[in-house]
Amino acid sequence: MQSFEIRNLFLDYFVSHGHEHVKSSPLIPKDDPSLLFTNAGMVQFKRVFLGEEQRPYSRATSCQKCMRAGGKHSDLENVGFTARHHTFFEMLGNFSFGDYFKREAIFFAWQLLTEHFRLPKEKLWVSIYKDDDEAADIWEKEVGMPVERIVRLGEKDNFWQMGDTGPCGPCSEIIIDQGEDFGCGKPDCSVGCDCDRFLELWNLVFMQYNRDEEGKLTALPKPSIDTGMGLERITAVLQGKKTNFDTDLFQPIISEICSVLNVSYGRERKTDVSIKVIADHIRASTFLIAEGLIPSNEGRGYVLRRIIRRALRHIKLLQYDRVAFYRFVEPVIESLGTIYPEIVFERKRIEKIIKVEEERFLRSLERAQQIFDEILENLKKSGSKVLPGEEIFRLYDTFGLPFDLIKEMAQDSCLELDEIGFHRQLNKQRERARAASKAQEIGIDEVYKELRSGNHDFKFTGYTDYEAETIIH
Ligand code: ATP
Ligand code: MG
Ligand code: MG
Ligand code: MG
Repeated sequence: MQSFEIRNLFLDYFVSHGHEHVKSSPLIPKDDPSLLFTNAGMVQFKRVFLGEEQRPYSRATSCQKCMRAGGKHSDLENVGFTARHHTFFEMLGNFSFGDYFKREAIFFAWQLLTEHFRLPKEKLWVSIYKDDDEAADIWEKEVGMPVERIVRLGEKDNFWQMGDTGPCGPCSEIIIDQGEDFGCGKPDCSVGCDCDRFLELWNLVFMQYNRDEEGKLTALPKPSIDTGMGLERITAVLQGKKTNFDTDLFQPIISEICSVLNVSYGRERKTDVSIKVIADHIRASTFLIAEGLIPSNEGRGYVLRRIIRRALRHIKLLQYDRVAFYRFVEPVIESLGTIYPEIVFERKRIEKIIKVEEERFLRSLERAQQIFDEILENLKKSGSKVLPGEEIFRLYDTFGLPFDLIKEMAQDSCLELDEIGFHRQLNKQRERARAASKAQEIGIDEVYKELRSGNHDFKFTGYTDYEAETIIH
């Protein structure tokens, strides 16, 4: 089954059970400062769950664009290393706003997976929240799930919340045991293990509470349902692939990466990690820029810049030294453009922004290399084998080099890193940034007042090279 058939089958199934098909909302949530990016299908329905907004339907289904990079649920560091995590992915979901609850949600999911997608029942497991006897009973007595394949887990895995505040509740997840070949091999490997053997497919959240700023839970006006299943995961399982990256959603992108960068996929682990990171990050960059985001030094724009630079670092690791990343926008558009026309309309702008960011980064990299060589020369003279924290910070902050890239440059020259010193500098900078954003909150008048009090010793030290460069372009 092709991914587009899987997406359609899911949505059609729920439409035929009285659900309204609601289009994906943007990745950048409107009017919700509590959230960096839309990280689940329920985000656009948050106010409906809270009873603050009425809709003409009480059941909905969607295929939602999600981003899990930065903020709660971030998977940025997992990408490339697990078979199942992306920054950008599509979440299939069904929702009930005070209509059906646990029993129906469980029945729908079970029927769709076992009768329509024909997953083998004996390989499926479920997890439930540790105290949720009601869900346990439905799985055991009504669905017929053997009790040894119902696992009770705690808050971390089975109590879902969108962010620090907002609608939340216990959940029950459906997991497929993919066999030992997929596992970590540890004797206690089971549901809840971080490896890819027991693959979490679908999360059914029983929305019952709202968490306020103090962490207090209050009951929602009506118990509701929110579910989410990653399209890439179910596609990998149905296509019999080892990772999400081997499905038809990623293969056209990966083959373009291989042809442009002149590398092969599926031969060497290290190369594959880089290819996967690039393939994942080009999807994320394409979708974020299509929504109007541009790389910058703060907030969401900074996350985008980090994503792009992480990909560029991996392009460099594959021994390619020219601009290339922007060329992978095309296969992303080919694979998802009919579903998300915004990426087709914005194609030129997306490519241009990525290319400019690449050129800028390559220039920074060149200058950073010169600086690095000077540092190296000085260290040699002094006989030291340690790259000082201040210098790491300078390369990181002024030239925007990712930390791991600096680490590699140092290792290539047989240098150790003063990581503690680096983190000290980083914390100082964070404090400065915090003070600056506090100043913004207080309002400029207050800042002037403080300045007038003469308690501070401020000195304008000029723009850093990097800021100056940002301003010039
Ligand atoms: P995991 O434990 O594998 O990190 P999760 O528990 O964080 O997943 P949920 O928050 O429950 O995931 O999200 C619902 C569903 O969305 C998951 O069951 C999975 O199918 C999918 N999903 C979650 N995170 C990702 C991701 N980073 N990339 C692709 N699919 C994802
Ligand atoms: Mg996760
Ligand atoms: Mg999980
Ligand atoms: Mg989960």
